[in-house]
Amino acid sequence: MTNNKEVVLSGIRPTGNLHLGNYYGALGKFLKLQETHDCRFFIADLHALTTNTDPDALHRNVKGILAEYLAAGLDPEKASIFVQSDVPELSELYLLLNMHVGIGELMRTASFKDKARKALGLDKKDDENEDDIEKQIIGASTNKRVSAGLLTYPTLMAVDILAQKARWVPVGKDQMQHLELTRRFARRFNQFYGVEEFIEPENFEFRDAPVKVPGLDGSGKMGKSEGNCIYLIDEPKALRKKVMRAVTDEGPQAPNSPMSEPIANLFSLLELTSTPDVVKHFRDAYADCSIRYGDLKKQLAEDILNVTTPIRERVNDILADEAYMRRVLAQGAERARAQAAETLAEVRHIMGIRKI
Ligand code: AMP
Repeated sequence: MTNNKEVVLSGIRPTGNLHLGNYYGALGKFLKLQETHDCRFFIADLHALTTNTDPDALHRNVKGILAEYLAAGLDPEKASIFVQSDVPELSELYLLLNMHVGIGELMRTASFKDKARKALGLDKKDDENEDDIEKQIIGASTNKRVSAGLLTYPTLMAVDILAQKARWVPVGKDQMQHLELTRRFARRFNQFYGVEEFIEPENFEFRDAPVKVPGLDGSGKMGKSEGNCIYLIDEPKALRKKVMRAVTDEGPQAPNSPMSEPIANLFSLLELTSTPDVVKHFRDAYADCSIRYGDLKKQLAEDILNVTTPIRERVNDILADEAYMRRVLAQGAERARAQAAETLAEVRHIMGIRKI
């Protein structure tokens, strides 16, 4: 771990097992980046608190994500791996940065609206009018409320990144708006105080565009709360079953027909997991109407298993070695804290919090 390399920072919330969306949006990129960059990867337990209120599940999931990080090949000798709450400096920075963040801009973020809707038990159609969800939030009773923590999620995410002076943030497409807010907050802070404290970070992609891994249920992204995930630790039988059940259509009715969304989604997954010649084979078969979706799904399931099997096979051994997991986290936290403490001291000084 040399220190003239550009810093990469990214995290995953411990809200359950890792799925293919996490793998292609984030973890897969971490694995490549640890070879070339100064990487810091964390388990975002404070972020998980915005939607997870079961303490035992949170604790279990932190261990689970760590084991899956390590089983996938994250190497603590190459990258720092830490738990967000092991770096208390972040919480103070979060308080300080919040002084420069507007509640209006936070309320307008798409993920906040989605999660607020869920917290209030509303369907999307209930707020077709943009102002509606905001009124519902303000009028919500105290037992069905939207937490201030959820609203300020982008501030905490910005702090995670800015505290480490990270240049690159490998995340999936769903995080692009949050990353844009981080850039805006960094710029605003620098301009307000006339300093060059923060770097404006960018998403890191090996491909042309940010990745969005779709679900197999016909529309939308793969996500834990969508209940449509293929998990890295799914047993082969269960995984094959999930893929074989993927939503399809009645098949192309004429040569070179446009694809429906469920079929386009299957091809997106195939592109992520299979080789170019396999993808071409099925694209050609779709174009000349000879495609059999069953064959496509069988191929897809095997290609996904090629990626996930080595990870699944290592997870339990790692979970059984708690001393090793503790060592990894202690080493990662020490490094992350050193950088966060330096940033915090600078920010305190810049903002006028100085010793008399
Ligand atoms: P989360 O599980 O929401 O904490 O997300 C952790 C990382 O996985 C973030 O970088 C997300 O952008 C990424 N991610 C989650 N779901 C998907 C998806 N369906 N497609 C692409 N990236 C995703």
